[in-house]
Amino acid sequence: MEIQKKKAVIAHRGASGYLPEHTLPTKAMAYAMGADYLEQDIVLSKDDVPIVIHDIHLETVTDVAQKFPKKKRKDGRFYVIDFTFWELKQLNVSERFDPVTSKAVFPNRFPAFTSTFKLHSLQEEIEFIQGLNKSTGKNIGIYPEIKEPEFHRKEGKDISKIVLKILNNCGYNTKKDNCILQCFDVKELKRIRNVFKSELFLVQLTEFKNDEKLEKIATYADGIGPWIHQILDGKDKNGKWKISNLVANAHKLNLIVHAYTFRADQFGDFNSFEALLHVALYEANVDGVFTDFPDKVVDFINKN
Ligand code: CA
Repeated sequence: MEIQKKKAVIAHRGASGYLPEHTLPTKAMAYAMGADYLEQDIVLSKDDVPIVIHDIHLETVTDVAQKFPKKKRKDGRFYVIDFTFWELKQLNVSERFDPVTSKAVFPNRFPAFTSTFKLHSLQEEIEFIQGLNKSTGKNIGIYPEIKEPEFHRKEGKDISKIVLKILNNCGYNTKKDNCILQCFDVKELKRIRNVFKSELFLVQLTEFKNDEKLEKIATYADGIGPWIHQILDGKDKNGKWKISNLVANAHKLNLIVHAYTFRADQFGDFNSFEALLHVALYEANVDGVFTDFPDKVVDFINKN
């Protein structure tokens, strides 16, 4: 895997800036835009089918509240894990919305509640990407994330075991195979390496608080996935962004760095999306970025 030579463009939930996240159309679009990896967030169904969806809940991206009103839990939420794969297939997927107000989270993106989109399994998405790899002659990678392993365990399910088996069956076994497996849960990623003896390329996702030390991460993972603000260190007196030592320290330990999440419609205190990309890719020197807008990042990298 040559991820250290070229900046990697990882389609975050697909080309999710343009089409509803994690649908097959948004993955096709990201593929056509030249992303290097397509991301899959994974949650198990009631019948143990790994589903490609960001949350353990359904009501922020589907019409579950209309179709299955009785399947709501006491906390008012609908859980993927309470539905069979067949039931999940009955749902229509929409651009992400607030279930209380029905307002779109990103109002300038694809209109909520329009057209027809469906949920799908990890197996279906892998077949889709491998099919495109065959028909285009390219070799675009997958980037699955094990979501909330502790929640799954409390529900009596071992999500990593099930996902690793599917990856294995689909030909993803070693670092040479075009697959990067990611997880926020430190214990679980260690378990994937040390108990399941996975030889896959593993990325430890990180947040600000309670992060495992880099030296420890380097004993079981091949890379880190920090939040954008972890690679920055505020601004200096002239308003120029300062860079934290996270990327340099990770590189010293031979860990690659793929930062999240780069959105052309949400670039915070930066003057432009390009300014943000420049700081991340060429000043902080991250090895790749998770983005909702793979076309814009591919263009930016090609111009630099
Ligand atoms: Ca993710």
